Amino acid sequence: MRPAKPRDKRIDKPREKVGDFTALALSKAAYTLSVHDPRELPAPGAAEIAFAGRSNAGKSSAINTLTGRRRLAYVSKAPGRTQLINFFSLDGRAFLVDLPGYGYAGVPAEVRDHWETLVGDYIANRESLAAVVVVMDARHPLMPLDRQLLSWLRAAGRPAHILLTKADKLSKQAGRVTLDRVRRELIQLAPRSTVQLFSSLKGEGIAEAAGTLSRLAAAKNKSPG
Ligand code: GDP
Repeated sequence: MRPAKPRDKRIDKPREKVGDFTALALSKAAYTLSVHDPRELPAPGAAEIAFAGRSNAGKSSAINTLTGRRRLAYVSKAPGRTQLINFFSLDGRAFLVDLPGYGYAGVPAEVRDHWETLVGDYIANRESLAAVVVVMDARHPLMPLDRQLLSWLRAAGRPAHILLTKADKLSKQAGRVTLDRVRRELIQLAPRSTVQLFSSLKGEGIAEAAGTLSRLAAAKNKSPG
């Protein structure tokens, strides 16, 4: 019989439970406001967890899956044209922020420029921004615009959490290989980042994402600077 491991070596940390003081109230997400111009942003308050991603990567589906709401992120979805930052209050203790998607085909230069100004300014200057969730299709991660976004996050010293979504489209083995490759690349691209596989279709990775986002929001609420 093997000797029992010393107590402090055991991996028996308590798991984050829904309803914990620090857990994000994702299921309580309530639409609050939309912003088209950085000057319209509300006064900074509770921690903001922002979601960004290439068009069609699965960002809206990920938001809907994480909040358990079928159409939350579709409320004001207007492909590529109306570029809005949408705020959802999480029980007044944090905000989920849906940033406009990027990489739409055939978008006029002024729309692209507006995206850069709106999202670039938000990432560089938003005091209450705790972290950005970058949603990427697990089959095509780290496309050029994803890398640009990660370079902004790195420059601003912002934590990033990458969701490699549509993981159901990959075999278990291919998923692991992708996860390892992206994790290695992120060491250079965005050192304050974490990455996981996710599937809105299969409901895979929800607990891991909710736990990570709760920790990031709680850390920001504790030390807002
Ligand atoms: P967005 O443009 O980033 O908001 O992307 P959507 O959430 O609208 O998703 C784009 C397409 O991918 C839709 O047809 C979704 O049904 C599909 N999709 C999103 N997430 C998943 C997923 O986890 N698995 C699969 N198989 N399809 C997904």
